[in-house]
Amino acid sequence: MHDVVIVGGGPAGSSCAYWLADAGWDVVVVEKKHFPRVKTCGDGLTPRAVRQLADMGLEDALAGSHKYGGLRAYGFGQSVEMQWPEHPNFPNYGYTITRHDLDGLVAERAVKAGATLLAGTEVVAPIIGEAGFISEAGFISDAGSTLPHLKGVTIREKAAAEEATGDRTAGDRTAGDRELLARYVVVADGANSRVGRMLGTNRRRDLPLGMALRGYYTSDRHDDPFIESHLDIRDAEGNVVPGYGWIFPMGDGRVNVGVGLLSTDRRWKGVNTSHLMDAFVNWAPESWGLSPGTSLGPPTGGKLPMGLSVGPRAGANVLLAGDAAGTINPFNGEGIAYGYETGRLAAAALGHALSGEGPRALADYDRQIEAAYGPYYKVARAFVRMISNPQAMKLCVGVGMRSEFVMSQLLRIMANLMRPDAPGPAEIGFRAMELISRLLPDEVAALEAASAGTP
Ligand SMILES: Cc1cc2nc3c(=O)[nH]c(=O)nc-3n(C[C@H](O)[C@H](O)[C@H](O)COP(=O)(O)OP(=O)(O)OC[C@H]3O[C@@H](n4cnc5c(N)ncnc54)[C@H](O)[C@@H]3O)c2cc1C
Repeated sequence: MHDVVIVGGGPAGSSCAYWLADAGWDVVVVEKKHFPRVKTCGDGLTPRAVRQLADMGLEDALAGSHKYGGLRAYGFGQSVEMQWPEHPNFPNYGYTITRHDLDGLVAERAVKAGATLLAGTEVVAPIIGEAGFISEAGFISDAGSTLPHLKGVTIREKAAAEEATGDRTAGDRTAGDRELLARYVVVADGANSRVGRMLGTNRRRDLPLGMALRGYYTSDRHDDPFIESHLDIRDAEGNVVPGYGWIFPMGDGRVNVGVGLLSTDRRWKGVNTSHLMDAFVNWAPESWGLSPGTSLGPPTGGKLPMGLSVGPRAGANVLLAGDAAGTINPFNGEGIAYGYETGRLAAAALGHALSGEGPRALADYDRQIEAAYGPYYKVARAFVRMISNPQAMKLCVGVGMRSEFVMSQLLRIMANLMRPDAPGPAEIGFRAMELISRLLPDEVAALEAASAGTP
């Protein structure tokens, strides 16, 4: 019987494991892959993510990675370069590093702190305790569903052949299943969250979901000091679509190139991201040297569950963190920092639960997530709905791009780097956006978007 079992060793799972182990708890992370492993991502760490890595004692480990100072935005024929802002809690720089290299570092850090890592091992099913158990605190989601009480999880060692090919029927599967019992379980199994869905979590379909695709290219500009965002990406017919294209210099001869699309209403459901990616690569500034000849392989993609769209996040003895809880920032598609942060919040709540507070502490986790991100994500959701309208998007980006000052304030809002200590234009602008979003509940916005949509 362990104190905590964590499903998944990505940013959310490994950070949760680190903070629990650091506090002296007996924690096991079950990760279906062996590190280092490839994970489809833009590989961009913002100052928020760097802060979390530094707190885990990992900033020195990033020394060989590409350090960059800010964002260059392109839109409707204009471009603006913005440095990351000065902030009392976050550094004014970021890094790019492949997830192949990054995720293993954090998992290893958790192990050094005392966590046990079962790599190459998959959680195949939760072990349900008392069926339908609802704690005194009554963890009932908006949709009326609850998370069951768990005794632990059933795990299966993955055969090497299965891990290499992803083919569940490949290789020798004689290792057999075994039970891992725990007082508490954290589900941090990423965007598809199979285990979360087995427990009854679901994603609110009326909230935005991102889809993104990325590939690597060789480029002479691989060590550019800015990451680059293109805010007016277009489909094959030349229509502006809600999303953005990115070119992130990796500092190792490569750039990470991708497109992200927000499926905020049915207008955008039919957009083919592969075609969008081809169009973006054709259209990107020539100086990056993107072409089929510099491509290092076909792009791969994934979903971005965002804006706290997945729940319930807490049960009697279960918590969800990271993408499994839909914690990606809808403003910019950033999810690594929020994985680290929610993993850390989960660890703190579990520390209280294990210290004697019991399941009540898990309800606090839910409330803390709501307090930390709820109002901000509500504004972000309203914003992405607004920019789903091509005219509104053109107006916003077109007007913003004319002023470096406006864009740098927007960057602070969109990267969640507003200052608590010194309210300035970004903070005041955000308050105004917050007031407007309060007048426009998600449900109303979703209905409007759906009725405005053309197939
Ligand atoms: C194309 C793309 C580009 C992106 N670019 C960026 C970016 O530049 N910056 C940024 O901050 N975010 C980016 N994101 C988002 C970011 O990748 C995620 O938000 C982040 O990985 C979430 O971390 P996580 O720990 O919740 O999930 P994951 O990173 O997905 O980790 C989940 C882990 O759980 C393991 N797992 C799953 N199921 C099981 C199981 N049953 N048993 C055991 N282990 C299991 C998986 O192998 C995986 O290691 C991007 C996403 C996509 C798709």
